[in-house]
Amino acid sequence: MMNVSDPEPSTEDLISSLAHISSHPGHLKRAAEAVQGGCVKRHVFTPSGRVLFTVVGRSGDEFIDPGKPFCSCRHFFFRVLGGRDTTCYHLMGYEMAKETQRFDSIEMHDEEFGTFLRLLASDLLDASRDKEDKDNQKASDSRPR
Ligand SMILES: [Zn+2]
Repeated sequence: MMNVSDPEPSTEDLISSLAHISSHPGHLKRAAEAVQGGCVKRHVFTPSGRVLFTVVGRSGDEFIDPGKPFCSCRHFFFRVLGGRDTTCYHLMGYEMAKETQRFDSIEMHDEEFGTFLRLLASDLLDASRDKEDKDNQKASDSRPR
């Protein structure tokens, strides 16, 4: 059972719970906001029971594989794989969501995997196009899902 007296852990709580994995305050804050906004999605496929994770970020959905770890965002590709950072805020958001059990769970049928991939791919393509056009110039639309 969940303790519902305080269903929203504060940003500070989330940040302090993860302060050991990043010294980047901006990323920690962004990660905490993603968790609080229900942006860390846990896609549970049935009947296989396979689980995939995505994080709705500032430029659309990113696919994360916390086991590797891997994230489809540009920061991960350029900074983390380039050895200049240890992680990105999407993966941090996953860690926070895991510690606080704050995943937004979505049940999907195995047969919806193709749809899942298509939506994800179109988000990734849009995001990369968007990013190249206007880096860091984010409109404040949070799209309904
Ligand atoms: Zn990322």
